[in-house]
Amino acid sequence: THTDAPIVVIGSGLAGYNLVKELRKLNPEQAILIITADDGANYSKPMLSTGFTKDKTAEQLAMASAADMAEQLNIVIRTHTRVTNIDPAMKKVFIGEEPVVYSKLVLAWGADVVHARFEGDAAQRIFSVNDLHDYARFRRAAYGKQRVLIMGAGLIGCEFANDLANGGIQSDVVAPCDQVLPGLLPAAAATAVQTGLESLGVRFHLGPLVSRIETTEDGVRATLSNGEQIEADLVLSAIGLRPRLDLAVKAGLKVNRGICVDRTLQTSEADIYALGDCAEIDGQVLLYVLPLMTSARALAKTLAGQTTPVSFGPMPVTIKTPVVPVVVAPPQSGVEGAWQIDGQGSDIQAEFRAPGGELLGYALTGGTVSNKVALNKELPPLLP
Ligand code: FAD
Repeated sequence: THTDAPIVVIGSGLAGYNLVKELRKLNPEQAILIITADDGANYSKPMLSTGFTKDKTAEQLAMASAADMAEQLNIVIRTHTRVTNIDPAMKKVFIGEEPVVYSKLVLAWGADVVHARFEGDAAQRIFSVNDLHDYARFRRAAYGKQRVLIMGAGLIGCEFANDLANGGIQSDVVAPCDQVLPGLLPAAAATAVQTGLESLGVRFHLGPLVSRIETTEDGVRATLSNGEQIEADLVLSAIGLRPRLDLAVKAGLKVNRGICVDRTLQTSEADIYALGDCAEIDGQVLLYVLPLMTSARALAKTLAGQTTPVSFGPMPVTIKTPVVPVVVAPPQSGVEGAWQIDGQGSDIQAEFRAPGGELLGYALTGGTVSNKVALNKELPPLLP
């Protein structure tokens, strides 16, 4: 019967594993099955963009294998197994033809990289790094190489530019925006970060798009929409992440930018929950670790029988560009206010304040990052 059926968790990323860890603390007996498309290794995804600085292989970043995790948590893990369908009425997920019955289902299947479209024949030299397997592939390809073209100047593009430079690899960053970290930083703070990265030898090409990438004898040649050409050994695409929605849509779940969940992390269907990069909580898609950890604690309580809505305090994001450290708490979209900028050079303190003076967000770079402690006390919570 369904009540004897396990809680099924789809995905073995930080969201899936943290949920199960929290649930185990509350209920040592509950049958739990994780189904994961990858090898189930437990790793900290943020480490993927500091791997060249720390000179870590993919194997070194894997903290525990799926077998170790299964034993530690006393659960069953099916690795290299992809869920292909969900039937909420029958309370079953499908792995191809094979049905698996669940009592409760948790979607923790993350976000997909956005792929750029362009002309040329160099598709096999274009990489993106969104999991440990991607990282292993990229590291192998980058071994002994000197020049990487990075597409995208957002958080992941900037972190990799800094990380690769620390590892002795030069990069050219191309992005169709007029500053780095668009949408996260006001211009003065972005300039501080860009200048810092340039001091490491990173070259920025902001404004144009990459329109064509072709292979050359020993690498690739990219042609930008403004006609400029860039030669590189390989290309790292970091233009964005998008919550995975396909299976949720097929199953009839309500989706928007992510899979819509309420404060108890329940989707539009009973007994199906979502957290992590795939979820949209009260309209917010937060592709970061801290919200998923907070969500995991709340959802574990709910699954253990004590319905617990999640709430988020201020959740500033640390951007791993050590040449110019950054901490940012972006104002929520649509709120009224203006940036007030203080500081100079690499040390910028930007505060986003409402017309009445209330602090709604901030961006700190360089020597000002330690002021986050005081500012956090003034910030409104993300989900009260
Ligand atoms: P994922 O880790 O993507 O896990 C998804 C899981 O679902 C995988 O196991 C996958 O195999 C599985 N899956 C997918 N589809 C299926 C299917 N159909 N069937 C079965 N299994 C499936 N956040 C921060 O807060 N701070 C940082 O410094 C930071 N740095 C980052 C650096 C990089 C390079 C990247 C890419 C992200 C970074 N983030 C950072 C974001 C953070 O890492 C993510 O928000 C978080 O790891 C997402 O975890 P998740 O479990 O939701 O998704």
